[in-house]
Amino acid sequence: MAKIELTRIPFIKNILKSRYPQLAVFIVMLIGYIFAILAGLIGTPVGSHNFSIVFVWIAWWALLILVAVPFFGRGWCAVCPIPLPGEWLQRGAVLSPPDKRPKWLNLRVPKMFRNIWLQNISFLLLALFSSVLLTTPNITGIVLAAMLFAAIGLSTVFERRAFCRYLCPVGGFIGLYSQTAPVELRIKDKQVCVTCEGKPCYNGSSTGYGCPWDIFPGGLTKNTYCGLCMECIRTCPHDNIAVNLRPFSADLAKPSTRMDEAFKAFIMLGSAIIYAGVLLGPWGAFKDAAYNVGSGAWFIYAVVFLAIIFVVLPGLFTLGILNTKNALPLKQRFASLSTALIPLGLMFWVAFSLSFVLTNASYIIAALSDPLGLGWNLFGTANMAWQPMLTSILAPAQTLVLVGGLIWSARTAQKAAGEVKVSPIPVIVYCLLATCLMLWLLL
Ligand code: SF4
Ligand code: SF4
Ligand code: SF4
Repeated sequence: MAKIELTRIPFIKNILKSRYPQLAVFIVMLIGYIFAILAGLIGTPVGSHNFSIVFVWIAWWALLILVAVPFFGRGWCAVCPIPLPGEWLQRGAVLSPPDKRPKWLNLRVPKMFRNIWLQNISFLLLALFSSVLLTTPNITGIVLAAMLFAAIGLSTVFERRAFCRYLCPVGGFIGLYSQTAPVELRIKDKQVCVTCEGKPCYNGSSTGYGCPWDIFPGGLTKNTYCGLCMECIRTCPHDNIAVNLRPFSADLAKPSTRMDEAFKAFIMLGSAIIYAGVLLGPWGAFKDAAYNVGSGAWFIYAVVFLAIIFVVLPGLFTLGILNTKNALPLKQRFASLSTALIPLGLMFWVAFSLSFVLTNASYIIAALSDPLGLGWNLFGTANMAWQPMLTSILAPAQTLVLVGGLIWSARTAQKAAGEVKVSPIPVIVYCLLATCLMLWLLL
């Protein structure tokens, strides 16, 4: 399938170029985010009746993992409210054209942190405490507030969106999986960039800010680090930026050789498997260990969690590819071939989330009427009884998703193996075994 340039349609282009539609969505999102913090801190401690738990971990999560990431890549980052207050403070403006004088320290992030290891760590921290985070409103409120203040703090010290680019636990996996999405932002003509004076898309101009994600749009080859903020559409004086529809997973044709990105794929794959076993499986002891944060059992759970992600999964993968010898170092083959785990991991998360979301979706309707659990009944739905939804189609849908993910990852493995000139068979067998495990855990 050839690419289709969406920005050729004047209506879409005008909406993306104007700051006002995006600002309107930002403001709604920011109000919702602040309300989620307040609800977590002052609302009922019963998670299933508190806006912060129901709307963040059920409604937002469902939209993010089932719709936004698979179909729009970093689309959520285009409207996410977390970096906004920090960015407004950093710029000293909400909408006005940029003033070149830095308002704060405006330091460059040190080179050793310019990777996604910090994002890997921040995601793992949330993952290890997730059973408490997902069920306890005041912990959710504190974590949401901490993310907002961390983004503000980093904006006053470092240039551009340092929190999004290097620390956000959500942004890390959205970036990884955005490579599979059928939407991209790219330049139209490389030659135009070569002769473009001042590179306003990176350095800013009177029409907009230099790329907040510290990317030179002229060199974009994958979605991972482009936050779809649309600034470059506003600043490019040569109309050289396009938003395109494209085939799914187009970015994965050129596998990454970075270990931080490779480990992100293992972290996400392993977390989906562990969550499926612990949160949805029949083993009460595992669940107790995950919930009793700080207990001896929880420490064992944390060690096993990290061992599965950093030792077992990558170790088995390495054993599998050891014999796929060629001139490339093992590290490079490992990083490149792990690209196949990206569609697999995304489909694992979709399958896991279908269980989680359909089981708990009825709480959304009740919480709409009584978001703080204070006995309100705004829309007359507060007393709606909990009931799982679409239970009859859950297992077939999950099977379809997991088998689809396996086929998708096998296809990706073939391409990645072709790039590094080795056989894809060990990677495909690895993906097959992981899929069988996930099917067993979920069905
Ligand atoms: S990286 Fe994180 S904070 Fe930044 S826009 Fe994306 S989700 Fe929001
Ligand atoms: S401003 Fe436009 S033409 Fe110039 S370098 Fe950036 S994308 Fe290319
Ligand atoms: S300025 Fe352009 S390249 Fe940079 S994050 Fe925004 S949309 Fe992506």
